[in-house]
Amino acid sequence: MAVREIRVGNVIFGGADVVLIAGPCSVENEEMVMLTAETVVKNGAGMLRGGSWKPRTSPYSFQGLGVEALKILRKASNEYSIPVVTEVMSLRQIEIASEYVDMLQVGARNMHNFNLLSEIGRSGMPVLLKRGFMATVEEWLLAAEYILKEGNESVVLCERGIRTFETWTRATLDISAVPLARNSLGLPVIVDPSHAAGRRDLILPLSLAALGAGADGIMVEVHPDPDKALSDGGQSLSLEEFVLFAETIGAAPQSPCRLTEKNRR
Ligand code: PEP
Ligand code: MN
Repeated sequence: MAVREIRVGNVIFGGADVVLIAGPCSVENEEMVMLTAETVVKNGAGMLRGGSWKPRTSPYSFQGLGVEALKILRKASNEYSIPVVTEVMSLRQIEIASEYVDMLQVGARNMHNFNLLSEIGRSGMPVLLKRGFMATVEEWLLAAEYILKEGNESVVLCERGIRTFETWTRATLDISAVPLARNSLGLPVIVDPSHAAGRRDLILPLSLAALGAGADGIMVEVHPDPDKALSDGGQSLSLEEFVLFAETIGAAPQSPCRLTEKNRR
């Protein structure tokens, strides 16, 4: 099945080029977002990410800056001509975030929130739908269909690892999900090695594996000072590390899985 092209601003998912999404786990302040945006844009990222409302396991952990974060993302987007994506967790947040960002993210913890999915479908906004860490591929694709059913075809899927018995990584990246999901619904599939591994040393190998399997993009967490990050520092690349990472990813050969498909069109 040919993968559908999904346009978000000046970026195309499922097109000839692999899309690199980069940015901090959480928007912490304007300075760190601007600094990160400048570096990632200069080095090949097509989209900027940043959490505005954070789905934290503990209610006492940093919860995100909310609307202030959205304003910072918009400013970075305008300044560097790059589309931005942020996660929404409630119906109200869909409405607010849609005024500021180019794409809405449904996180792993909300993949089963069917009301949220339908409402995002009705919003018509491009969506990045992450796979729940306890969801089968079929459940993930059915979640995507909740959005499609409302007439919103701008859905990009994101494999971010599933919960297994393994403890050396935060989750286990399910590589088979990439071709399975791509070939089933014909939607572009990207991979998030940061949340899958939970550790920055695995970001490059997991990304190369994902690209080999035909992923249409990679989403990676980047922070100017990962050791001081308010969330997910251990799985974030520093700016310097991102430069090297992006260079290696950019030089990676086109996956035969994607080439074959393009030729078939
Ligand atoms: C995120 O991308 O910021 C995030 C919280 O990821 P996940 O929903 O995959 O845990
Ligand atoms: Mn994170």
